[in-house]
Amino acid sequence: MDRLKDKRALITGGSSGIGLATARRFREEGARIAIAGRNPAAVEAAAAELPGVATMVADVGRRSEVATLMEQARRELGGLDVLFANAGIARIGPAEALDDATIDEVLTINVKGVLYSILEAAPLMTDGGSIVVTTSVNNRMGMAGSSIYGASKAAARSLVRILGRELVERGIRINAVSPGPVETPIYGKLGLPQATLDGFAADLSRKIPLGRFGRPEEIAEVALLLASDESSYLVGTEIVADGGWTQL
Ligand code: NAD
Repeated sequence: MDRLKDKRALITGGSSGIGLATARRFREEGARIAIAGRNPAAVEAAAAELPGVATMVADVGRRSEVATLMEQARRELGGLDVLFANAGIARIGPAEALDDATIDEVLTINVKGVLYSILEAAPLMTDGGSIVVTTSVNNRMGMAGSSIYGASKAAARSLVRILGRELVERGIRINAVSPGPVETPIYGKLGLPQATLDGFAADLSRKIPLGRFGRPEEIAEVALLLASDESSYLVGTEIVADGGWTQL
């Protein structure tokens, strides 16, 4: 299995959920990988099951930390062929209930984090490369309670198009994967009681034609396709992986 043979890949948000599943998959396909996350203990715990992986800690919402992260990637991997700009957070609830700190946090991580990651990674892609951004189906639908999260993902989707246009002349392709609900620790970080989460999950599962949440490994397969040369003619596009929720 050599779909990413000789590729050097950095995965932000690589310590958990979709990012961790993708790190496993990229490694299986022959990539040399680095994972980055915000929490040092979580990054080290993830690395324990990924022998040979380079580990890095950075808050993608801070440009200076992203610049340092890319400098580390240059030192440890010698450059980059693939960036999976996947780090992100979710916050849900009625728009009237959102405080300014929450609004700023979501926009900073989900929008500026993607922008900084792409801008700082591009100079390392001296032979061209592939950038995959994790957006969300919330970028394209009017789901109540998803206001600032959906808006942040729509902005990320827009960056895929616009930076995709700006960087394609340097041989860098940028595409998005837009998951529907996926079983990851992200839901446990919403600060909601378990019973509320269970009700939310049951309600969403009923709306999804496949009848269930996605698995992180299913999103990793899409990230792999977009990262690899098999998607050489895909630029600025979005692959929706949502069990048919927004498609049928
Ligand atoms: P997760 O909480 O398991 O993982 C998120 C990762 O992002 C963690 O490694 C975390 O450390 C990292 N991260 C968060 N803020 C960061 C910051 N400021 N700097 C650096 N790293 C940071 O969640 P997940 O579900 O695997 O989410 C991955 C991506 O997928 C996110 O962008 C999320 O919005 C998106 N997504 C998830 C779902 C879902 O249902 N799980 C659906 C659509 C999109």
